[in-house]
Amino acid sequence: MGAIDRKKDPREEIKGLLAKGELEKLLGKAGEIHGHYCSHVALGVMATYIAFRKLGITDSTGMEEILAIVECNNCFVDGIQAVSGCTLGNNALIYKDLGKTAVTFIDRKTNKAVRLAAKYSGRDEPKDAEDREARELFDRAVKRREKLEPRQAERMKELWTKMSFSVLSQPEDDLFHVKFVEPETIAYAPIFDSVQCSSCGENAMETRARMKEGKAVCVKCAGDDYWMVAGRGIHPVGKR
Ligand SMILES: [Zn+2]
Ligand SMILES: [Zn+2]
Repeated sequence: MGAIDRKKDPREEIKGLLAKGELEKLLGKAGEIHGHYCSHVALGVMATYIAFRKLGITDSTGMEEILAIVECNNCFVDGIQAVSGCTLGNNALIYKDLGKTAVTFIDRKTNKAVRLAAKYSGRDEPKDAEDREARELFDRAVKRREKLEPRQAERMKELWTKMSFSVLSQPEDDLFHVKFVEPETIAYAPIFDSVQCSSCGENAMETRARMKEGKAVCVKCAGDDYWMVAGRGIHPVGKR
């Protein structure tokens, strides 16, 4: 195999891994942006791999020809972004704040779409002693934000990594409800001009500018509400 020429195609490596079904290496790529291994980042990798095969997609170029509509903002989404190349920044990732670990991929070229919804709920009984231990450590470290001793933190990482990679060998039916769906119409991302805020001097997208005493100002300088995506989902920030 020749050296990878990233200038020619930044996704050459991922495209090759997808073609060969190198799931562990794909999870490794997702880990690069996600920062850790966990079951949901692995589910995102699997969802993308399965969807691409069902739709006959070999790659995406981040030009909105392939769209991923996610219904949550958890670890699942990073597996999807890394492997599919549909990201928040290239507008090929659409986020619906529905709180479901689910994704719909749309291929605009064929007008086909497939939705995958994770079966895992976290409500089922732990599978074994390690699963129980991993959940307890998760509750302490993440839910209750306790500071774990280094040995326990290391153990959690070890258990999570094991769980994450084990997802890759599970049958599709155990992981997801998979269904071909009618693709919904999503407009291509519009390109807006920028205007300069007369108060702070920064440039802002014109649809986010306000008029104040006849002059354009940005949302912040206007003191207006705006929307924010954070851990709890999409929510308004401001006076409301
Ligand atoms: Zn994670
Ligand atoms: Zn301003």
